[in-house]
Amino acid sequence: MAEVLVYVDHLDGAVRKPTLELLTLARRLGDPVAVALGAGAADTAATLAEHGAVKVLTADAPEFADYLVVPKVDALQAAYDAVSPVAVLVPSSAEGKEIAARLAVRIGSGLITDAIDLTADAKGPVATQSVFAAAYTTNSRITQGTPVITVKPNSAPVEPAAVAGSVEELAVTFGSAATGTKVVARTPRESTGRPELTEAAIVVSGGRGVNGAENFAIIEALADSLGAAVGASRAAVDAGWYPHSNQVGQTGKSVSPQLYIASGISGAIQHRAGMQTSKTIVAVNKDAEAPIFDLVDYGIVGDLFQVVPQLTEAIKARKG
Ligand SMILES: Cc1cc2nc3c(=O)[nH]c(=O)nc-3n(C[C@H](O)[C@H](O)[C@H](O)COP(=O)(O)OP(=O)(O)OC[C@H]3O[C@@H](n4cnc5c(N)ncnc54)[C@H](O)[C@@H]3O)c2cc1C
Repeated sequence: MAEVLVYVDHLDGAVRKPTLELLTLARRLGDPVAVALGAGAADTAATLAEHGAVKVLTADAPEFADYLVVPKVDALQAAYDAVSPVAVLVPSSAEGKEIAARLAVRIGSGLITDAIDLTADAKGPVATQSVFAAAYTTNSRITQGTPVITVKPNSAPVEPAAVAGSVEELAVTFGSAATGTKVVARTPRESTGRPELTEAAIVVSGGRGVNGAENFAIIEALADSLGAAVGASRAAVDAGWYPHSNQVGQTGKSVSPQLYIASGISGAIQHRAGMQTSKTIVAVNKDAEAPIFDLVDYGIVGDLFQVVPQLTEAIKARKG
């Protein structure tokens, strides 16, 4: 059967959920061959085999940690040359998109980013994207070279599909550009205990209507009752009420959770651009004419200071 390369996003051997989702999609196209790089790469093998990776190609070298993306592109290209896959799938993170774009240029292939679904027909993969603030859904096919496609988190379920996967070390030769940009310092972000915003299955966001940094506690309480990540509109972030790293939107992060709850957010096009592909959207807004209501599956017209705490209590009560 045809092989499909899947670039593995992992942290010291712990495979992140978007990669397991990619394996679900990769199996629709062929046999997944995973490429895991850096410290702990070999530790990913068991999890990847449980989710259908017939082979895991691993490589570890100081270059992966010490320099920005080019060493990883060199390695993915080495895997591409070794496997001759029918498609290359990469998680749609900022780094993933850069790696995918560089690989596509090198191998002379077309690139599709931010797919939300993948199907296959006789001519190869067809990628679904949601565009123009979810006003259109497009289906596209790459017509030149081997399709390179990045897929947004939460686009497919994680489905166990155990195989007796093999592990092979990948021989990588780094090009002269690999060491062009050195990482000179790393500062770990303080952990909130909440899931990573771009990977979370549920995101609870607050906007200008939250009206103050201290009031974000009610957004956080709702998020914690659901095990969700916290997002914010640019208005809330620019006001200094919540960190920039939590901004959702065109100039913030792009999220695609199963459930997105927006409170005190009007639904400007730039905010929509970062959350329009969420599966179910709920909004709480005191203005029945707010544009966010054009986008929602469930809308609550009301004061968030009354509605959100009630919602939190109701969820806690349901959970017992
Ligand atoms: C180039 C560019 C890039 C941008 N990028 C982004 C981006 O990445 N992300 C982003 O979010 N924005 C972005 N913006 C800004 C965007 O245009 C909007 O200004 C911003 O999204 C508005 O944030 P908001 O919805 O929180 O505020 P507002 O538009 O002011 O809306 C606040 C809402 O809260 C409601 N409200 C008020 N009080 C309550 C209450 N007590 N209970 C319930 N509802 C209440 C109001 O009815 C209103 O609908 C960008 C703009 C530009 C020009």
